[in-house]
Amino acid sequence: PSPDDPPYLRGLNAPQREAVLTTDGPVLVLAGAGTGKTAALTARLAHLLYTRKAYPSEILSVTFTNKAAREMRERVGRLVGDVVEGMPWLGTFHAIGARMLRRHAELVGLQSNFTILDTDDQLRLLKQLIVAADIDEKRFPARALGGLIDGWKNKGMTPADLDAGESELYANGRGQELYAAYQARLKALNACDFGDLLLHVLVILRSHREVLEQYQNRFRYIMVDEYQDTNSVQYLWLRLLAQERKNIACVGDDDQSIYSWRGAQVENILKFERDFPGAKVIRLEQNYRSTPHILGAASGVIANNGGRLGKTLWTELDAGDKVRVVGVWDGPEEARRVGEEIEGCQRSGKTLDDMAILVRAQHQTREFEDRFIAIGMPYRIVGGFRFYERAEIRDALAYLRVVAQPADDLAFERIVNVPKRGLGDKAVAKVHQLARAQGVPLLSAAARILDTDELTPQARRSLGNLVGDIARWRSMGETLPHPELARQLLDESGYTAMWQAEKSAEAAGRLENLSELVRAMEEYESLTAFLEHVSLVMDNDASADDPKVTIMTIHAAKGLEFDTVFLVGWEEGIFPSQRALDEGGLASLEEERRLAYVAITRARRRATIIHAANRRIYGQWTSSLPSRFVGELPPEHVEPETTMSGGESLWRANWSDRADPFADVARGSGRGPGWQRAAGSGSGFTREAPRVLESKASAVSFAAKPRGDITLGMRV
Ligand code: ATP
Ligand code: MG
Repeated sequence: PSPDDPPYLRGLNAPQREAVLTTDGPVLVLAGAGTGKTAALTARLAHLLYTRKAYPSEILSVTFTNKAAREMRERVGRLVGDVVEGMPWLGTFHAIGARMLRRHAELVGLQSNFTILDTDDQLRLLKQLIVAADIDEKRFPARALGGLIDGWKNKGMTPADLDAGESELYANGRGQELYAAYQARLKALNACDFGDLLLHVLVILRSHREVLEQYQNRFRYIMVDEYQDTNSVQYLWLRLLAQERKNIACVGDDDQSIYSWRGAQVENILKFERDFPGAKVIRLEQNYRSTPHILGAASGVIANNGGRLGKTLWTELDAGDKVRVVGVWDGPEEARRVGEEIEGCQRSGKTLDDMAILVRAQHQTREFEDRFIAIGMPYRIVGGFRFYERAEIRDALAYLRVVAQPADDLAFERIVNVPKRGLGDKAVAKVHQLARAQGVPLLSAAARILDTDELTPQARRSLGNLVGDIARWRSMGETLPHPELARQLLDESGYTAMWQAEKSAEAAGRLENLSELVRAMEEYESLTAFLEHVSLVMDNDASADDPKVTIMTIHAAKGLEFDTVFLVGWEEGIFPSQRALDEGGLASLEEERRLAYVAITRARRRATIIHAANRRIYGQWTSSLPSRFVGELPPEHVEPETTMSGGESLWRANWSDRADPFADVARGSGRGPGWQRAAGSGSGFTREAPRVLESKASAVSFAAKPRGDITLGMRV
C-alpha cells in the first residue's frame, strides 16, 4: 500500500488488491463469507473506470439481487464520482437479460415492448394450454409443468433441445409438446417469462454471430458476484460473452451455494478453471465481518458437510458475545421475544436498520409482521412479492399493462369485468372465440365484436365503454405523466370506487395500497420502465427512509450483513425444512446446512438463534424439536438460554438422547451427531491459543498469523 493509492485501494489486503489489479485474463476469487469478495469486486469496477480501461458501458457486472446492484452502483459512485452515471450493464442476470432482449427481441419473434409475465400469469396460461390439450390438470398440474419448464430454461434448453426422457417428465411424454405450445403462446402474446429473459438471449447469442461478436467486443470486462449460484444458462452466457477477451472475474463461495433448487450448479466453479485455462485463483482468508464466536459457530455447523472445497478463515475482531440460543414456548412468544429484544437494542442506541430477522420460509414472516404492527415497530419485508402480489395491486397493474401493451391478453382478461360491468362469462367467451378465429389479441377482438350482433345490448355497451376507455387512456398516456395517468385511470374505470363502496377496514388498506402504487410510479421515468421494475423487483423497501427492522428469508439475505441478527424457527421441519427432510437425501440436507452457514454469517456482532417448542400448523398445535443445526453449534461459541420452565438446555437434551437417522450420512465425514462434539473435547479455540474447529487435525490448515489473530481452520 502506498499513500498515493487511489481511494478504492486503501484498506484492501494483498489478495484483495490482487483481485482488483489483475484486470486482464480470467480470475476466480474463492473465499468464505465476509472476506470482502464483494468489496473487492466493487473496487475492481472502480479501478477499471478510474484507470479508464473501459467506459461504464463496456463493463458487464452481474450481481445476485437488484439491491446489491444498487449498492454497488452507489459505492462505485462514491469512489470514482459521476462516471458511473451510465452503467447500463450492472444488474442481475435477469435485468441484464431483459435489457439485451429488448434490443434484439425481433430475433426471437417478439417486439421490443414485450411483457414479462409473473408466475401467476404463467400458471394461468399453462392451465389454458393443458385444458386445450385435453390433459387432466388434476393429474398433471400446471404448477408441475411450470416447474419443469423453468428447469429446462435454467438448463438452456429450448423445446427442440428436449429428449424423450425430459419430455416423459410431464403427462406421459407430452412435456415437449406443451413446452412448445407455451412458447408459441407467449410469442403470440408478445410476452416472455423470467426464464426466457435468459434463454432467449442465449438462443440469440448462439444463432446470431454478429450479435454475439458485438457483445463480445463491447464487454471488455465481465464480473460476477455470488458465482457459486449461477445456473447452466447463465454459465453458458458468460462463457460465450467472455470467450473472446477472457477478461472475466468471478467471486464466490461453495459453502454458500443455496439455489440448487433453482438450477444453480456449484460445479460451475470447477468448470471455470477448465473453460478458462490459466485462470488466476485468488483466496481471501481474513474475515472482516463477524466476531470470532459468530464465525466459530458458523464454521462448526458447515464442517458437518462433506465434499467442500475448503478454506481458511480468520479474524482480528474481538471475541464479542457468544451466539445465543433461545428456546421459547411457541410462535407468538417467539415474535414477542424478538420484538422485546429489538426494543432493548434500540434503547441501548442501536438503529433498526442494523437488525434483521431471517426466516427459512416466506410464510414465517406473518407472525412477526402481526406482532410488529401491534407494537408499532417499523419493519420492512425484503425479497418477497408481498406488495405487488396483493390483489388490488395486481388489478391496477393489469389496467396499466393493457394500456402499455394492448396485446397483453392476460392483463385484459383480468380486468375485463373488474369492477363488475355486466360482462358475463358468455360475452367474454365470445371475445375469446373471435380472437382465436382472427388471430388477434383480445382487445382487438373486443373492438371488432362491437360491430357484430353477437353480444347482448348491455354487454355491448359495457364492452364498448371499456374499449373506448382503454384507447382514451392510451392517448392520455402520451401527454400525461404516468402516475397521473394511473390515478385517473383508477378513478375513471370505477376501480377505486369499487373499494370505496366496500367501507371495510380491509378495503381501506387496499385503497392505501393503490395510493402507494401511484407514489411508487413517480420514481420511474415511464410507464414501461415502471412495469419492468415491477416484473423484476420483488421488494418493497423503496419507500420512507426512516429506520426499520428487516424481515427476510435467508435466501434473500445472501451477501448482506447486519449488526444484530435473529435466526428464528430453528426447528426440525422448519429448518431444515420438511421438504428437505422428506426428500431425505444428503444433498438437500447439506444445502440446508449451507443455508444455516449463510444465515449465521450475516451477523456482524450479535446472533440469536431461536426455536419454539410448539407450533401451530394448519390450525393444529404440534410440538417441535430444535433443529439439528442447533445441536451442531460448537458449545464454546454458544450461550444457551430458555424461557421455559424445567429445562435450561432443552436443545442439547433433545439431541443427546435421540437416535438421529441422518447422523452418519448427513453430518459428513462419518462423524457422530453434533451433541457428541458438544460433549467432546478439543473442537474449540480461544484467543490466547488459537486452535482449530475441526476435530480431525489432519484436515486442517493451521496458518500462523500475527499475534492476537484467530485461526478458524476448516477443511482444506
Ligand atoms: P459474502 O460471502 O457474505 O458475500 P463477502 O466476501 O462478499 O461476503 P463483503 O460483503 O465484501 O464480503 O465484506 C464483508 C465486510 O467486510 C463488509 O462490511 C466490508 O465493508 C468489510 N471489508 C471488506 N474488505 C475489507 C478490508 N480490506 N478492510 C476492512 N473491511 C473490509
Ligand atoms: Mg458478497
